[in-house]
Amino acid sequence: MLSRPAAEPPADRGLAGDNTAFGPSTAAVHAGEARQKPGCSITDPIFAASTYTFADTQAVIDYLEQDEPREEYGRYGNPGERVVERKLAELERGEAGVLFATGMAAFVGVLMAHVSAGDEIVFFDECYHRSREFCRKHLTRFGVSYREVPTCDYDAMEAAIGPKTKFLISESPTNPHLSVIDVERFAAIGRRHGVATMIDATLCTPYNLRPLEAGVDFVLHSATKYLGGHNDLLAGAVVGSAELLEPVRNLRGIMGGINSPHNAYLLERGLKTLALRMERHNANGLAVARFLEGHPRVERVLYPGLESHPCHDVAARTLRGCGGLVTFFIKGADGGPADWQATAAVIDAVRIPRIGPSLGGVESLIEQPLVMSYWTYSPEDRASFGIPDNMVRLACGIEDASDLIADLAQALDSPRRHG
Ligand SMILES: *Cc1c(COP(=O)(O)O)cnc(C)c1O
Repeated sequence: MLSRPAAEPPADRGLAGDNTAFGPSTAAVHAGEARQKPGCSITDPIFAASTYTFADTQAVIDYLEQDEPREEYGRYGNPGERVVERKLAELERGEAGVLFATGMAAFVGVLMAHVSAGDEIVFFDECYHRSREFCRKHLTRFGVSYREVPTCDYDAMEAAIGPKTKFLISESPTNPHLSVIDVERFAAIGRRHGVATMIDATLCTPYNLRPLEAGVDFVLHSATKYLGGHNDLLAGAVVGSAELLEPVRNLRGIMGGINSPHNAYLLERGLKTLALRMERHNANGLAVARFLEGHPRVERVLYPGLESHPCHDVAARTLRGCGGLVTFFIKGADGGPADWQATAAVIDAVRIPRIGPSLGGVESLIEQPLVMSYWTYSPEDRASFGIPDNMVRLACGIEDASDLIADLAQALDSPRRHG
């Protein structure tokens, strides 16, 4: 049978009393964990089990009738994963969390649990393209319609709400344009119309912003990025009220997009240093963005921590820091935008950041969105997504900012190889 979730807060917690009193560093290290663990180990054990056994028939009946919090079968949950769910819930100051195998599995899980034929979803248009693709190509096959409005156009979002609207969805900050949503305003629109709101907070993490405190209903994460933080795992999570997450957890038990005990442990370990890493990602992002903004070969920089970013005021008011992602545009020899080859030459000349998709890990990553994500798109489509040929996306890791800056300086100053 589909087991109900084990009671969310266990009796023995890592932190006594009201955990909201603890700061993000203490919570990242201790929240969600039992103080005393099996084997008296300081770390959580990895229970490499697909199933969990009962002493006798009466124990099975006791479990079924009393809903005793314990495990039953691995698709419904495992102990390590529950630790991470509690840790994330406490970091976000939400009631409950549900972990998934990837960020996309979490996104699909939330929507499949909460929308039905005849419902409509309204998006800010800079949301992750796979999220929008799921709605556009797949949910529409089940009679769920879908609309996009320009990012940060709150009036357009409110005007798009009709009797069928069930969800308002945005990312914040968005990728790669780094638009920052005024989450209170966004949540207030949902409340006014009785529509659920969801923020994909992958880029800000609970260290920089806690959207639930602003009134948002669901916070979504690709834990593959900053939460895991080491470019060594895939995972996803959703955090919100226990009531809204119960159908999501039940659906996950059927879908099966769960984390293995080994993966959950890797994520728990990664999360311990979340606050430390985010401090460095925030500092590196800002230092690199400032350097790039002053460089003669850079046409413009998008980073919400810079006064030049259109969302700077919202970012300064609502975010603790702006993270490690920096988007910039290379200037050509004639002073206009560089062509794609000259842009590629800068990327090929860097020595520290590796070339690859993704973000949020300790290693810096660099890519040209035209090539990495939009190579098969028409120029018209790329223009509509706001992806010029000279755009570079740099995900700053936790290296020394001075080294990253020196490396970017030599790459920008190096002769163009195939411009
Ligand atoms: C990577 C990413 C996702 C998808 O997460 P996966 O873990 O790759 O499935 C969703 N939203 C944002 C903002 C992302 O960066």
